[in-house]
Amino acid sequence: MSANGKILVIGGGISGISAAADAAELGCEVVLVEKEPYLGGRVIRMNQYFPKLCPPTCGMEINVRRIRQNPRIKVYTLSEVEKISGQAGDYTVTIRVNPRYVTGKQPVTQAHLDAVATEVPNTFNYGMDKTKALFLPHDAAYPPLYVLKKDALTSEESQRLKNASPGGAIDLDMKDERIEVKVGAVIIATGWRPYDAVRLDNLGFGRCVNVITNVMMERLAALSGPTAGKLLRPSDGKEPAKVAFVQCAGSRDENHLPYCSAVCCMGSLKQARYVREKVADSKVTIFYIDIRTIGRFEKFYYDLLEDPNISFIKGKVAKITEDPVTRNPIVEAEEVIPGKKLSEQFDMVVLATGIVPSIMDSPIAGVNLTCDSDGFLVDSPNGGGIFGAGCVKRPLDVSRSVKDATAAVMKAIQIVRR
Ligand code: SF4
Repeated sequence: MSANGKILVIGGGISGISAAADAAELGCEVVLVEKEPYLGGRVIRMNQYFPKLCPPTCGMEINVRRIRQNPRIKVYTLSEVEKISGQAGDYTVTIRVNPRYVTGKQPVTQAHLDAVATEVPNTFNYGMDKTKALFLPHDAAYPPLYVLKKDALTSEESQRLKNASPGGAIDLDMKDERIEVKVGAVIIATGWRPYDAVRLDNLGFGRCVNVITNVMMERLAALSGPTAGKLLRPSDGKEPAKVAFVQCAGSRDENHLPYCSAVCCMGSLKQARYVREKVADSKVTIFYIDIRTIGRFEKFYYDLLEDPNISFIKGKVAKITEDPVTRNPIVEAEEVIPGKKLSEQFDMVVLATGIVPSIMDSPIAGVNLTCDSDGFLVDSPNGGGIFGAGCVKRPLDVSRSVKDATAAVMKAIQIVRR
């Protein structure tokens, strides 16, 4: 084995967790770095995911157990890789560990929670609600530790927290830490972020209150979400009886994302089912260019075609505005067949926004990563020791991301064991 038989995995979403667990179970030492305070990435924020449509906590529980029980894996959350230098088989990595201000040495108690009244936007729920500045990111968070947004506290709250922490549960003096590790290979699994819907000026997001995105819809539908799983529209908290989905919102558009984001057709079909199941007598309209459902998912689409309350309209949505009284979104579209313009009001509109590789937002100092013209990572050329896994390379669903992570581990192992 090379001197540095260790593998660095950057990103603790489904691809990164799978890669870390696979590599460790094959005997490698693994360092897993995640910038959020918890593992699980985008998938843990879903309501259900394909292929079995189970809540993500099911699959995550298994993966977290694989991570927790394997002494070969060292996990750093709230952490970022600042720099990588060296070459395949011998990389030096600088990791910045950001302060959590919650030490984990003592439990966070009701006295700590009572000490803080300030609320901050709940990023886990895409800002649709607020949470206290001292919070557990979600019920199944791993590590199961609270996080403190110290900068949001008043001086009185800081003092109350200090008084409530004689045993050191909260440490307001915690600072950034720098850690240096030597690894032989690197797997980048930094995943994706949704395309910024505000940039889709014609589709009204940010101006029309009842226009939301597909990732927000997942949180609305989730029992752990801001509405405890009830589908309620933002303007008045009423159940939306008539919902439109706008496909390819940003994707397959030279002005935004020129590629197909691959998963958003299935995402909207799944969410159409949420609407039909949760809101009695609801009606759904899906505006699409093409419906792309690969492999066995085609059956899911055919089943929905049988539902008389779900309409599919082939046509691009040109514009969404808002009725100033009802706050209903008004959708203007061109229906390809029979070739006519349409204008219709809905209670709520969901934009099927596309996938952007997160690596575009946070390049890593010290290494020249090769990305294609759309920003997706390309594996190191022959002889390199840096590999991508999952959506950092192309838009993928969960099961394909997991397989891609295993493939990346196989490549990394060839470097660290040569
Ligand atoms: Fe459009 Fe469907 Fe491709 Fe998403 S998966 S970009 S909605 S065609």
